Amino acid sequence: MAKVLIIGAGGVGSVVVHKCCQVPEVFSEIMLASRTLEKCDAIAAGLPMPIRTARVDADQVFELIALMEDFRPELCINVALPYQDLTIMDACLACGVHYLDTANYEPRDEAKFEYHWQWAYQERFKKAGLMALLGSGFDPGVTNVFTAWALKTEFDEIQELDIIDCNAGDHGQPFATNFNPEINIREVTAPARHWQNGEWVESQALSTSMDFDFPEGIGPKKIYLMYHEELESLTKHIPTIKKGRFWMTFSDNYLKHLEVLENIGMTSIKPIIYNGQEIVPLQFLKAVLPDPGSLGPLTKGRTCIGCLIKGLKDGVEKKYYIYNICDHEACYKEVGAQAVSYTTGVPAMIGALLMLTGAWTGEGVFNMEQLDPAPFMEKLNMHGLPWTDLIL
Ligand code: NDP
Repeated sequence: MAKVLIIGAGGVGSVVVHKCCQVPEVFSEIMLASRTLEKCDAIAAGLPMPIRTARVDADQVFELIALMEDFRPELCINVALPYQDLTIMDACLACGVHYLDTANYEPRDEAKFEYHWQWAYQERFKKAGLMALLGSGFDPGVTNVFTAWALKTEFDEIQELDIIDCNAGDHGQPFATNFNPEINIREVTAPARHWQNGEWVESQALSTSMDFDFPEGIGPKKIYLMYHEELESLTKHIPTIKKGRFWMTFSDNYLKHLEVLENIGMTSIKPIIYNGQEIVPLQFLKAVLPDPGSLGPLTKGRTCIGCLIKGLKDGVEKKYYIYNICDHEACYKEVGAQAVSYTTGVPAMIGALLMLTGAWTGEGVFNMEQLDPAPFMEKLNMHGLPWTDLIL
């Protein structure tokens, strides 16, 4: 029985709350807090059990502390935006609350995707006897656990890791993103980077692609090399990885729109003056694009996210593929959200569940691959994200 504070009432936050309500024996009291109280109340109105809601500006540590002192949670699940990670970690330290998030900290003025800001909290969390679990979404999150599971059960040594993220869904909109548009476009337009023989190799965004044949009838799709934050922690914690890459599918239509938006400066994060007021073009673009939450009832098709791994077992080379397939319409039927929010929200709930039940414990700051993958893998099958693995 535990009290949990969930911050962020967006697409992912809504899924996390719904999934926590499905396990009331662990999440006995829930508070959902976000910048806009009405969004929390709208989510709360559709839940099978009563929860508390509150308004908080998570950029303000003092507001977070006041909220935590009032509610006294054991754990805070941060599913606001990456900009709020450090302020929420500060408040957790001040109030003796464990911490979990799904995306690493990013400064607003530069899309960096680096863990060092959060890894710098290691000693403070350790000293406070608290645990901070970083990146408990799907990618990062389940992809880290898949890799740890492969190392535990299939390999003596992992040498190559390809994380492959496919959204074979269609929402019927000319252009929309499946999670927060600002964060999504910052990620996709950043230079691609992969790990090769002990160093990062950088290339132009979306300039490297290949075909990949996805399983279970999804079929061949073009995948594009990108940078993704889990590569940093995985290559650090599993140093035998010689080559680590992250790939994602994009439709031609998405890429065409993105190219035009980039060419005309709408994806820029550099502030400009408009009518005497400072605005950030990408934030303005976010305001006119469809809210990812509104795509739920429109999206059809499936996602397929997994890890293709090469390495050695008993001195022999081995190739292994492990993945999850998630159906957009089934997710919407269950929790009123499309699969991209679902595949992020379910692992956030599972990470929290493992921390609160003592299956995952520790003092300090942890990435997912540092913990025993077995209980997480079991819970994925139980809570809506079953996985399949193949020896190739
Ligand atoms: P949304 O934009 O839908 O939701 C974000 C929520 O955070 C909104 O309710 C927003 O409030 C709230 N928020 C923003 N700023 C503040 C603030 N200063 N104080 C309080 N609340 C605030 O995003 P998503 O739900 O799509 O994504 C949530 C997180 O999940 C992001 O960090 C994203 O990067 C991460 N993610 C991780 C994935 C993974 O696999 N690891 C995949 C997809 C997403 P308001 O409504 O008022 O704007």
